[in-house]
Amino acid sequence: MSTRNGGSASRAGATKFENYSNSTSKFSPSSSLKSKLHHSTTAASSLRRGSRDYSTISGRVRVAVRLRPRNSEEMIADADFADCVELQPELKRLKLQKNNWDSDTYEFDEVLTEYASQKRVYEVVAKPVVESVLDGYNGTVMAYGQTGTGKTYTLGRLGEEDAAGRGIMLRAMEDILEEVSPENDSVSVSYYQLYMETIQDLLNPSNDNITIVEDPKNGDVSLPGATLVQIRDHKSFMELLQLGEAHRFATNTKLNTESSRSHAILMIHVKRSVKGKDSSVSTENGNRTPISKTLKPPVIRRSKLVIVDLAGSERIDKSGSEGHTLEEAKYINLSLSALGKCINALAENSAHVPVRDSKLTRLLRDSFGGTARTSLVITIGPSPRHRGETSSTISFGQRAMKVENMVKLKEEFDYKSLSRRLEMQLDKLTAEHERQQKAFDDEIERITLDGQKHIAGVEQNYSDALEKQKLKCQKDYAESLKRLEKQSAVKQEKYGQQKVNVGLSDYGIDQKSKSQPPVLPSSDEVTELMQKLKNEILLRNAAEAEVDNLNKQLIQWKNMEAARNSEILKLGKRLEDEECEKAKLEEEIKMLQSQLLQISFEADQSRRNLDKRLSGQAASSLDSLIPQAKHQQLREPADGDKASVVKLFEQVGLHKILSLLQSDDADVRIHAVKVVANLAAEESNQEKIVQAGGLTSLLELLRSSNDETIHRVAAGAIANLAMNETNQELIMAQGGISLLSLKATKTEDPQTLRMVAGAIANLCGNDKLQVKLRGEGGIRALVEMVRCRHPDVLAQVARGMANFAKCESRASTQGTKTGRSVLIEEGALPWIVQNANNDASPIRRHIELALCHLAQHEVNARDMIHVGALWELVRISRDCSREDIRVLAQRTLKSTSGFQAELKRLRVDYGLSNEECTW
Ligand code: ADP
Ligand code: MG
Repeated sequence: MSTRNGGSASRAGATKFENYSNSTSKFSPSSSLKSKLHHSTTAASSLRRGSRDYSTISGRVRVAVRLRPRNSEEMIADADFADCVELQPELKRLKLQKNNWDSDTYEFDEVLTEYASQKRVYEVVAKPVVESVLDGYNGTVMAYGQTGTGKTYTLGRLGEEDAAGRGIMLRAMEDILEEVSPENDSVSVSYYQLYMETIQDLLNPSNDNITIVEDPKNGDVSLPGATLVQIRDHKSFMELLQLGEAHRFATNTKLNTESSRSHAILMIHVKRSVKGKDSSVSTENGNRTPISKTLKPPVIRRSKLVIVDLAGSERIDKSGSEGHTLEEAKYINLSLSALGKCINALAENSAHVPVRDSKLTRLLRDSFGGTARTSLVITIGPSPRHRGETSSTISFGQRAMKVENMVKLKEEFDYKSLSRRLEMQLDKLTAEHERQQKAFDDEIERITLDGQKHIAGVEQNYSDALEKQKLKCQKDYAESLKRLEKQSAVKQEKYGQQKVNVGLSDYGIDQKSKSQPPVLPSSDEVTELMQKLKNEILLRNAAEAEVDNLNKQLIQWKNMEAARNSEILKLGKRLEDEECEKAKLEEEIKMLQSQLLQISFEADQSRRNLDKRLSGQAASSLDSLIPQAKHQQLREPADGDKASVVKLFEQVGLHKILSLLQSDDADVRIHAVKVVANLAAEESNQEKIVQAGGLTSLLELLRSSNDETIHRVAAGAIANLAMNETNQELIMAQGGISLLSLKATKTEDPQTLRMVAGAIANLCGNDKLQVKLRGEGGIRALVEMVRCRHPDVLAQVARGMANFAKCESRASTQGTKTGRSVLIEEGALPWIVQNANNDASPIRRHIELALCHLAQHEVNARDMIHVGALWELVRISRDCSREDIRVLAQRTLKSTSGFQAELKRLRVDYGLSNEECTW
């Protein structure tokens, strides 16, 4: 066998493999356990290189061989014989005895003797894979070998009685749990077995027929039906493995299986967020950063570690014998031999790898020839009695060593968490704003109340003081009046006495003048009065000063009130600003959400394109553009992307979307036309779109844009709208026919041509448009589009011709058409005849129909005979698998005298029944 490094030939192989063994660092580019720094650097640089174009590293499948020690039975039975293998671990070589005097030598990445500890086996076989899973790459660890050679011992041992016996599954999980952060990362596990091509959930035995789902975008396989359990600690994982083991035992008993016939697969999903790649919306101290800086979504890595305990490899050879049922043998054979074939194909760099032949190979698609880092341990026993099995196991391992994987970082943007974060931020801002608003209102109320209280107090004080002063003044006045009166009375009395004593003698005045009062007070009294007056004036001044003072205080309070009012105004203004800011934030979030929807929508589009390309020629159900579009939508009824377009439609509104068709920004125009096209694919939206002027806008876009994508998408939307008669006439009225015809001659892009041809094909089915279709070059364009040989385009062209011929045949029956078919005049007939037996059934069917319709009208007969269409009709009338077409052809042949005459001339007897035909 070409893969064997036997005898001296092993030297050449040895150099090759030594290179590999020395390049461990290449195989294990980073070790998260050793260096945490590495994360951010690889991630950052891969991101810098462009959003999704992550680096890929070539990584060969690594293969270790492990020898089981002799068991007690072998100790006795093989006591007289030497082991059939000899290991040279330091040279990484294994010698397999051929006979007493000859042996073959093989080299492996690691050679593990019967004394190798479980810890060493883990470190050599699995640890590099586990480390790279933690770094964001997928990984696989798989054991292959004859039953009883230690696959389960190596992978699944729980080490309950002896901790040193723990197998790879447990040790891998220990390393993973030690490394991940419980807050930011998550680890979850599913565990199932594959038996006779059915997948049974080992964590929920009632779930016994899980289906495999493949992501058409990247080919990733997943089992959405399998139970997925979050693992938080070592104990819960241990319990889970025990549960899996118990269920495996129960399931196997129930199904009459043994574990050696089934493949057990443990899948550990690791999701990690990459630090330092995003900025938060608001810093700790509440300072807001510009929102545009925060739109960068965080980065996460989703990787998985798959640990596979395969069924015994001897089953390949022995299945079918030893009491296996035939069915079982077939399936055991199927999965393991399919794996062998895939590995052979990959080892030989063959163009076709038969991955789809079995469920096992589908599940391991990423592990061999995919993007995972893969390590295989092949287990062998020492007994010479099983030399054959040991030899085939070794061959398998040797071939697997030649398989190269392209290891790829599984990193993606976490849009969901960005959206969640922005929403949280918005909620926080809203709450904060509400709180501030409340505090502000309270403060205003408090200030107002305080102000009012103060003013009332000051006014009260002022009026009290005034009143007091007034009373005091009145009292003083009354008192001084009284005093003056009293004094004046005393003076009067004194004065009267003096007059009696002095007057009569000194002044010689007559007694008659006795009654006259005295006129001049004394100077003492005057001084006293003056003093009093002064006092009064002083008092009055003091009172006036007091009044002034109070007035001043009043003015001061009023000023203070004005200042407060202006502060209230200022705060009001700030409030308005805050509200503005909030509105802006909400607007930006809305925009972001719509961008997100758009991204999902585009992803959906490109997946569809990919689907379409993959299905290629096989797209035989492509009878028309519309059923296909609908089919795609039906196929994914729960598709979130479609829902997102509908959501966009509801939220943004049709008019807004349509107005975006005229946006200045080319990107926006493209997005908008894509959204409109998607909506137009739904019959229920079509009327709304046309009513809102969408058809006119789409035609305008087709007319004025220079962008091929826009042309393609707009033409697709027009094709969808051209499904009903009213719209068809509208398209015609707005010059759509000549526009589409012009487009058909100008572009060479098959997808655009397919859309244009689809649209014209729909118009061809309308009786009222026949004349215009010819006059405005529609039929000419249809005929010219056959230059593009893409089967999808040809199918649309054929459909258009069939539609058109049908309308013509209707018109000729009604007598409204008399001349030759326009299709014949425009030169379509040779192509029709050439493709009448096209391999692609959609093309063939439509052409067959077109031929039958053309043949209905006697005036076409001569041309048809001339280019050989008669023979196609005869073939159709005999071989066509569709009965209606077959019958139509038979009827036409019989009823057209031109054809009858030709058949007679050629002595072909086209009689009344098929059986009588003699050609
Ligand atoms: P397989 O899964 O390949 O059928 P098992 O793992 O069940 O084989 O091993 C068969 C028997 O051999 C078990 O009893 C196991 O304990 C024993 N055995 C396997 N490998 C070793 C080993 N390296 N050292 C000791 N015993 C082993
Ligand atoms: Mg086993």
